[in-house]
Amino acid sequence: MPLLEAENLSSAYGRVPVLSKVNLSVNKGEVISLIGPSGSGKSTFLRVLMGLLPPTAGEVRIDGGRIDYRSRAQLRAMRDRMAIVFQQYNLFQNMDVLRNVTIAPIKIKKRPRADVEREATALLLKVGLAEKHHAYPDELSGGQQQRVAIARALALKPEILLLDEVTAALDPELVTEVLDTIRSLASEGITMLIVSHEMAFVREVSTRVVMMDKGQVVEIGSPAEIFGSPKEARTREFVGKIL
Ligand code: ADP
Ligand code: MG
Repeated sequence: MPLLEAENLSSAYGRVPVLSKVNLSVNKGEVISLIGPSGSGKSTFLRVLMGLLPPTAGEVRIDGGRIDYRSRAQLRAMRDRMAIVFQQYNLFQNMDVLRNVTIAPIKIKKRPRADVEREATALLLKVGLAEKHHAYPDELSGGQQQRVAIARALALKPEILLLDEVTAALDPELVTEVLDTIRSLASEGITMLIVSHEMAFVREVSTRVVMMDKGQVVEIGSPAEIFGSPKEARTREFVGKIL
């Protein structure tokens, strides 16, 4: 059974429809990348999955169970199973790196500080920031801050990690270190939904690629299919432009 499924999922901002009948199933351990032109609904799709924007039609299932978006308890349970990292890393400026990573598990999840700090230490090692526990965000580069944000998301032990253009705000020389971190998470089998314009990376790291346009899924295929022999004209045009 897929870990996460969207079926005919639609959404809107006010009266403006922005997501239309999206179907996608995500298996455990998959790395699925969403590509498509700006404004095609990639961020909106992730927002709906996270329960940050309600669907207007269709449904989301986790482990086969339909999420009732009107139920606060179910929304909370769903958000517990997913974490999202955005382009803007939004670290807490007044807290050091360790505190940024540990605060939610300690304060919100009420987990024991010693356990959380031990796990955070391992996570910071994983994202290449073992030396930076006590640095403050303004002492870090953008790439380092984004890796703290990824560690902070992982500290909540999500089953699915959603990454929305996490390298888009970074200077080119800092992109690689963040992509390396994501690559190593992928090789550990962490289930991810990634929105990225780094096409070489998408091609390399994804199990499947979803091409979106105008709020719809245009095509889903393996990286070889989407980049090598896309079936749809819109995909061909998009990957042709960007490669
Ligand atoms: P993408 O992430 O693929 O660039 P988005 O999901 O951000 O696309 O946007 C999809 C559509 O929804 C676009 O037409 C965009 O202008 C619109 N949109 C995005 N955010 C909002 C918002 N907060 N209010 C109204 N319209 C929005
Ligand atoms: Mg977006």
